[in-house]
Amino acid sequence: MPGSHSGNVTQLRGLDCIVCPNSNLLENPPLLTVNSYAAPSATEPLVATTIERRDVGPKDVLIEIAYSGICHSDIHTVRGEWGDIQYPLTVGHEIVGVVTEVGSEVTLHKVGARVGVGCMVNSCRECVNCLAGEEQYCLEGNTGTYGSVDRDGTITQGGYSTHIVVVEDFVLSVPESIPYEAAAPLLCAGVTTYSPLAHWNAGPGTKVAVVGMGGLGHMAVKIAHAMGAEVTVLSQSLSKQEDGLRFGADHYYATSDAATFPALENSFDLIINTVSAKIDLHQYLSMLALNGTMVNVGAPPEPLPLQVFTLFNNRRSFAGSGIGSIRETQEMLDFCAEHNIAPEVEIVSADGINDAYERVLASDVRYRFVIDAATLG
Ligand code: NAP
Ligand code: ZN
Ligand code: ZN
Repeated sequence: MPGSHSGNVTQLRGLDCIVCPNSNLLENPPLLTVNSYAAPSATEPLVATTIERRDVGPKDVLIEIAYSGICHSDIHTVRGEWGDIQYPLTVGHEIVGVVTEVGSEVTLHKVGARVGVGCMVNSCRECVNCLAGEEQYCLEGNTGTYGSVDRDGTITQGGYSTHIVVVEDFVLSVPESIPYEAAAPLLCAGVTTYSPLAHWNAGPGTKVAVVGMGGLGHMAVKIAHAMGAEVTVLSQSLSKQEDGLRFGADHYYATSDAATFPALENSFDLIINTVSAKIDLHQYLSMLALNGTMVNVGAPPEPLPLQVFTLFNNRRSFAGSGIGSIRETQEMLDFCAEHNIAPEVEIVSADGINDAYERVLASDVRYRFVIDAATLG
């Protein structure tokens, strides 16, 4: 029997229902009921509610969530932009908190440890990609932190809540030197930009452009700079230029200025596109130098038309990249600690989530909203 929980966990255990002859709870795993903020439908604001977490299994840890980042993917998801989902849904996949309970077989994390959870909470562990340590590309589909069918058949619920139960090897250690409230966005925005920058060898002598300077984009600038690359920001306007240069960019251009594209033709070894909306690929691909690669991490709902002739010039590549592996996520956290890199965050309380969504959609984010989980009641 696991120990007691802190915070707002209501315990509903199978044994409690032994007096109820009609209850089938004894056959089902016991549950923990915790506070959360969830989307009731694609068109309504998020509302305060409760969700159920499985009880702590032998390899699970229970985390009391401290902060949870707001990723643009949360908004795409709850608004049904990427396809139908099952409502109500609690989103959030940039989670930091403290371990408050561990299962009997847990060896990787201790009670009291400062930990994080990112975009996935499990994978098949057997396919060729999982065995290669690239479980984000699990051939069965990784188990997303929210909106995925979990191993027990339930739909996973994310981090806009007070507690989460996760199998230990999908839980990251968050270095003490990273400010607590700023650590959360690293779990998605950090690793999603670190992974392609590392894979495509951003570093001294490489010219990297970052398109869009929101949550992902501002982390791409900081990380690429720390890796030693020459960094250019391509933003819609020059309104955030001072910030971009402070984050480590060497150059900053407005894509609303028609002169930008011809001026930068054939310039970059690597372009990381973080834009959440449709862009004209031809204009951006034309900025790649010989053997250059443009990596799309932005995930607009609409297809992006591609004129292949643009790729023939300079032997260009167009690629995609999805989040990062658990190994890479830990590597990224340690890299950020070593280089003193942290996201720029604006803390919001639970009742500010819906307003924060509108500001993200208006590109008015400086540069990641983070929910203070203590305000979830
Ligand atoms: P975000 O904070 O909203 O940043 C997106 C930025 O794109 C905006 O700040 C803005 O930057 C620019 N932008 C927005 N609309 C634009 C438009 N119509 N035209 C040109 N530029 C525009 O979002 P995020 O959380 O960083 O996420 C960015 C995208 O990555 C989303 O689609 C998200 O779903 C996706 N994502 C993918 C992965 C993955 O694994 N591949 C992981 C996480 C997120 P400026 O103001 O500087 O122009
Ligand atoms: Zn995300
Ligand atoms: Zn797999």
